Amino acid sequence: MISDRKKSDKYLFYQALERRLPKNHAYWPDVQKILRKEGGGYAGELRVDRELSETRFFEDYILLKSILVGNEASYCQIDSLIIYQKFILIIEVKNIPGILRYDEESHQLTRQRDNGPIDGMGNPEGQLQRSKRFVKRIIDQHQMTMPVHGMIVFSNPASILEKPFPSLAIHVSGLYQALENLHQLYADQSNPHFDIRKVHQLFIQNEPALPPKKPTHIPTKIFSDLTIGVLCPDCVMTKLTYRSKFWRCPICTHKGETSHLTTLQEYRILFSEEITTNKWMDFTGMKSVATTRRMLCKSNLEKIGGNKNRKWLIRKTQL
Ligand SMILES: [Zn+2]
Repeated sequence: MISDRKKSDKYLFYQALERRLPKNHAYWPDVQKILRKEGGGYAGELRVDRELSETRFFEDYILLKSILVGNEASYCQIDSLIIYQKFILIIEVKNIPGILRYDEESHQLTRQRDNGPIDGMGNPEGQLQRSKRFVKRIIDQHQMTMPVHGMIVFSNPASILEKPFPSLAIHVSGLYQALENLHQLYADQSNPHFDIRKVHQLFIQNEPALPPKKPTHIPTKIFSDLTIGVLCPDCVMTKLTYRSKFWRCPICTHKGETSHLTTLQEYRILFSEEITTNKWMDFTGMKSVATTRRMLCKSNLEKIGGNKNRKWLIRKTQL
């Protein structure tokens, strides 16, 4: 079973920002740079997903993508958590092109591109061990004795891993073999089997729900420079107007009944997960209070407060 891979909050934030930021804005090049990096990371995760989908024949398994493990105060995000019948495998995906070296003593990963300067890339092993601790904690809390393994997978075709490299770090091209080796350890039928659907439920039910997190280094002034409104998906930064139950573009022929649903998600990411009727009217240019209320009522939002101070909580959905 393979679920769709979610984009990270950071990636969604910058994509929403890009849609509404004028191209001549001073911050535009920075946004492009970050989007390239986030897009590369996401593409790398998809590459690993594809490799994993080709190993289906190993046995029944459930793959959880970009899952949060822990609680609201302390948690980790795991790129891929695979539940097999006999063990759990955590995969951290790294999309880093260039020559990669690993210092066993300091656990420091460095990268060099085109004989250029050497960049520090943190400690992926430390990150993996931390993820393992979070996963083990949840397993222990539910009195399970399931083994937990971890792997760091370098997903970029242009990553060159210079030896010596820790055995738990591999290039995506070696993933199949690494999985086969791991499964060999459990070939003996006497190893305990676990109910993978039950374990899956455990992680889903315990996933912390976090409010959208804005990157902290963003200049706050930028938010007043963004184009507001429900935007046309086909024209650049063109505001749709709401008339006779449809959002309509003044430039092209676009006509949509639910175009505001994407905008509500963008509003959640960029501004706030709470909205009032008045704020939504200001943001979209809608004129009728009754129509706006009706729209928000039908948009799968959660009501907060009484009728006088009515607010709506925008739930996270996939964009
Ligand atoms: Zn249009």
